Amino acid sequence: MTLDFDEGDELRDLRAAVADLAGRYGHRWFLEQARTGGTVQELWAEAGKAGFLGVNLPEEHGGGGGGMVELAVVLEELGAAGCPLLMMVVSPAICGTVIARYGTPDQRDRWLPGIADGTLTMAFAITEPDAGSNSHEITTTARREGDGWVLSGQKIWISGVDVADAVLVVARLADAGKGTLRPALFVVPTGAPGLSRTQIPMELVSPDNQFQLFLDDVVLPADALVGSPDAGIAQLFAGLNPERVMGAAYSLGTARLALDRAAAYARDRRVWGTPIGAHQGVSHPLAAAQVEVELARLMMLKAAWLIDSGQDAGTAANSAKYAAAEAVVHAVDAAVQTHGGSGLSQENGIGALVTASRFSRIAPVSREMVLNFVAQHDLRLPRSY
Ligand SMILES: Cc1cc2nc3c(=O)[nH]c(=O)nc-3n(C[C@H](O)[C@H](O)[C@H](O)COP(=O)(O)OP(=O)(O)OC[C@H]3O[C@@H](n4cnc5c(N)ncnc54)[C@H](O)[C@@H]3O)c2cc1C
Repeated sequence: MTLDFDEGDELRDLRAAVADLAGRYGHRWFLEQARTGGTVQELWAEAGKAGFLGVNLPEEHGGGGGGMVELAVVLEELGAAGCPLLMMVVSPAICGTVIARYGTPDQRDRWLPGIADGTLTMAFAITEPDAGSNSHEITTTARREGDGWVLSGQKIWISGVDVADAVLVVARLADAGKGTLRPALFVVPTGAPGLSRTQIPMELVSPDNQFQLFLDDVVLPADALVGSPDAGIAQLFAGLNPERVMGAAYSLGTARLALDRAAAYARDRRVWGTPIGAHQGVSHPLAAAQVEVELARLMMLKAAWLIDSGQDAGTAANSAKYAAAEAVVHAVDAAVQTHGGSGLSQENGIGALVTASRFSRIAPVSREMVLNFVAQHDLRLPRSY
């Protein structure tokens, strides 16, 4: 009998240390950065120095030697303190994992230490305007030229390109046919000639920005390619399952923030003599969301553990992402309602979580695509598309 739900002292200490650091910044600071065009770089740098950003990466490359369990816990705690670092979903979780697993020794030496200590940030670009959820239809193309590569195409909704040193771009090889994707992954420095970007104005109240990317005959050396061009989808999913776990962690942190704030308000605020939290119309939605948060965290930790132990994490990572997104949507909605008018004031900051929580249902994989996955893989139902 080995089943054990005790997180243990190491994870508890990690949670406490991250909460302590993030508590010195907080949601008010995060919102101020978002509303004044600031960045989260100060917190990012401190978190990197403390070893939190690379906690999942190999020790020989400057990481903490842990796994996705530790990385997810870091992001959850940052979010619970009101300052989630979105680029953790991308830089250490996707790019770090893929390079650690499939990169050459030179690529690992070149990229991982900086990703681990936060001095280097790598964005990730798979989504395209005309492909969307259907990554099989991406048209960004890599063609061989001499020893190297030339990339052309467009990407959309790419987070954090403004703070990134490089972007891990998913492309198809020019000699591969259309249809089923054989993805090839390329590290493209953000300063590479031919790579340009435009920022997409978003309704999110967040210091992290999204961009459209244009790759116009970007010339890359041979070692820009990470992994084998023929290793297929497995290489990509080595990064996408961690991304889903981190999507769940992002949502859970925000859900906890919303519930903490709402419960504190509901314990205090009186309009009929008793605290409003005594009214079940107020307490039940908060309690239901609290149950959802606990359930989603169990699935997030299970998915992270499956990844760390080298097992198939597809269903668990998708389920965790789904459950956490539903939890945060319900938690934030209940928190806004609990606050009444002040739930929508800028001063309060809870209203700013509404679009952030809705974003959890869309990215990195939409609610519907998760349900498609579970319908097809777990229930063996036919697909409609
Ligand atoms: C804030 C933000 C940050 C992002 N950051 C990144 C990033 O850093 N890198 C990156 O590569 N991408 C990023 N994305 C893109 C994100 O992964 C996509 O938005 C997401 O995968 C959905 O793709 P889409 O927007 O093209 O929607 P579409 O694919 O056009 O889908 C639109 C709607 O149709 C539904 N739908 C589509 N197909 C089906 C189907 N077969 N069955 C049922 N329903 C279906 C979808 O679920 C969705 O509700 C980001 C997005 C956002 C909003």
